[in-house]
Amino acid sequence: MAGRIPDQFIDELMHRVDIVDIIGERLELRRVGSNLHARCPFHAEKTPSFTVSPSKQFYHCFGCGAHGTAIRFLMEYDRMDFREAVEYLAQRVGMELPRTAQDTAGQRLELLYEVLKRAMQQFQHWLRQHPERNLAVDYLRQRGV
Ligand code: ZN
Repeated sequence: MAGRIPDQFIDELMHRVDIVDIIGERLELRRVGSNLHARCPFHAEKTPSFTVSPSKQFYHCFGCGAHGTAIRFLMEYDRMDFREAVEYLAQRVGMELPRTAQDTAGQRLELLYEVLKRAMQQFQHWLRQHPERNLAVDYLRQRGV
């Protein structure tokens, strides 16, 4: 199981990231008062009902109810999973994921392969050493292995 990303890390990340930058790179935002408006990417519309609040750091669509933080937006718009979105944002603001959270599925798979490889080598070694090894080989041949 991948290490869980600590809540404090997410909090710190949310303080450093500006949702306006993230969404502004993907949608055309227009400033209206203290908020920014755009045409909603999550439903078809002609007049913008999608708003981004720089002070609250979330987006909200009055048309379809889409709502969330920068992380949520990346998950919905870029189809990232939670972890990918956190990693993407952390990289942008120069934060490093805590060590415990860096245990990726890939690393664990490599470890598993290594264990299997050693078991196989051990088995081959045993087979070579075995006094009745030719018998075993003949037996396997007969069985069409
Ligand atoms: Zn919408």
